[in-house]
Amino acid sequence: MNNSLITFPLPANEPVKACLEGSPERIALDKELDRQYNTVVEIPAIIGGKEVRTGKIAEVTCPTEHGHVLARYHMVGEKEVKMAIDAAMKAREEWSRTPWTTRAAINLKCAELLSTTWRARINAATMLGQGKNIYQAEIDSAAETCDFFRYNVSFASQIYAMQPKDAKNCIDHNEFRPLEGFILAVTPFNFTSIASNLCMTPVLMGNVALWKPSRTALLSNYYLMLMYKEAGLPDGVINFLPGSGELIGKVCTESHYFAGLHFTGSTATFNSLWASATKNLDNYISYPRIVGETGGKDFIFVHPSADPAAVAHAAFTGAFEYQGQKCSAASRMYIPKSMWPDVLERLKVMASQVKMGGVRDHDNFINAVIDEASFKRIEAQIENARGSKDAKVVLGGKCDRSVGWFVEPTVIETSDPKFKTMVEEIFGPVLTVYPYEDAKWEEAVKLCDETSPYGLTGSVFGKDRLAVEKISEMLCYAAGNFYINDRPTGAVVGCQPFGGARASGTDDKAGGPFNLFRWVCPRSIKETLVSPTDIFAAYPYIKR
Ligand code: NAD
Repeated sequence: MNNSLITFPLPANEPVKACLEGSPERIALDKELDRQYNTVVEIPAIIGGKEVRTGKIAEVTCPTEHGHVLARYHMVGEKEVKMAIDAAMKAREEWSRTPWTTRAAINLKCAELLSTTWRARINAATMLGQGKNIYQAEIDSAAETCDFFRYNVSFASQIYAMQPKDAKNCIDHNEFRPLEGFILAVTPFNFTSIASNLCMTPVLMGNVALWKPSRTALLSNYYLMLMYKEAGLPDGVINFLPGSGELIGKVCTESHYFAGLHFTGSTATFNSLWASATKNLDNYISYPRIVGETGGKDFIFVHPSADPAAVAHAAFTGAFEYQGQKCSAASRMYIPKSMWPDVLERLKVMASQVKMGGVRDHDNFINAVIDEASFKRIEAQIENARGSKDAKVVLGGKCDRSVGWFVEPTVIETSDPKFKTMVEEIFGPVLTVYPYEDAKWEEAVKLCDETSPYGLTGSVFGKDRLAVEKISEMLCYAAGNFYINDRPTGAVVGCQPFGGARASGTDDKAGGPFNLFRWVCPRSIKETLVSPTDIFAAYPYIKR
């Protein structure tokens, strides 16, 4: 009998390990990298806890060595998606009634496993499969994933504690019901932590999920599934479905039991899923919760009072870490003309100091972009800039596909503030810079606000605090995560809840309590202690 009132205070963030040569974590990681590099894993679908092999096979390869196969996976068809809906709805009967502290315990156990015995395995899979170096894997697949598990438990305890006041002669309370159906989690390639969070947040709140992982993050995502099982997650609560997003999205949004979408990825994909849900609206039990974090065109705005050294550091790391494939990566910069030559010089020095290559050579700062489609898209944008009279490539620009999908850190300078690469999301290591007349900084701020349809992240640099305040105000809707004298990336769970509005999503903020509210439908309950019987009790002025 569990009748204790447990509260979970806000946790500390999971420390990022340094992985210095010779350290225990580095030895374990290198061993695991070798093991995974030399193994080809067979990845099945997992439905109702059972491994399902369809025989329709596709491959997972290394972005830094595209001829090297890491895994082969079984792609689901319509039949398996329908089986997964049935399995989820069956698991829901018990899971939705499981005490929330038990669900919390499973989340917290996931964090402990990942922090210890599973750390090297999930980091190595993220490095090899998604093309991350040690640090990028540590901050994502180890630290941030642990933080999501632990913080969400604390946020959930705050939500369950939100109770109304009692009036005289009655007891009032809120019951936070899970949604009446299943959640479809459609996850991106670029963060293992996001993939985990999109499934586990609704599940923590008592829901069941169908998980459509990205085909280019399958290895780490499959290992997460195995870890959830070891942590005690019951069969069928999450059903793992590698396969075509289009097909899985269609079958799920046509289901009577579709109750919500938890999505991170491109704006176009999110819009298409939202449109399918709208088309099928009459078929659902309830209005589905549609939560999506999507694209960005994240900016750095530099005021003339800024420190050029700090700007160059923010631009280089903000635009090029993980090859610019963070939704928050800086991809356009507005800078005073007088400061630009100095900052460009600093960027050139930094570029000459970093190496590019595979993830098993730990001296590489830059690795490869995720796949061929991405490589081609980035290459086309760079070629277009080379051929334009309004732009020039002033740093990098070389693309080499011979071994892996390698693109050099690239800076494009443009005289047109609406140049193609100032507007469109590229999702690669390309920063476009628009140098503006120093005295016209307010006009440049307006351009920054109006140039792109997105509103995800952005930052302002300046020592003039009043000017910074004015710029922050003028860019109020330009970014859901806004940084002052810092790069626009690197949000930390519990400190900077993440997400944007405009074409960047529904701004439901992963890493904060707001997101968890989307996965419950509260029931307000009033219990009257002594029920009235006299119909005139509330009408004392009526003469009887
Ligand atoms: P993507 O849209 O190509 O894919 C995301 C997921 O959707 C994948 O699992 C994919 O298989 C699936 N999918 C693709 N087409 C589908 C369809 N027609 N129906 C249903 N599902 C479909 O995005 P990606 O390349 O994995 O990730 C990059 C994008 O994600 C960028 O636009 C980036 O800005 C965005 N992103 C945003 C955030 C954020 O918090 N705002 C975080 C990470 C990534």
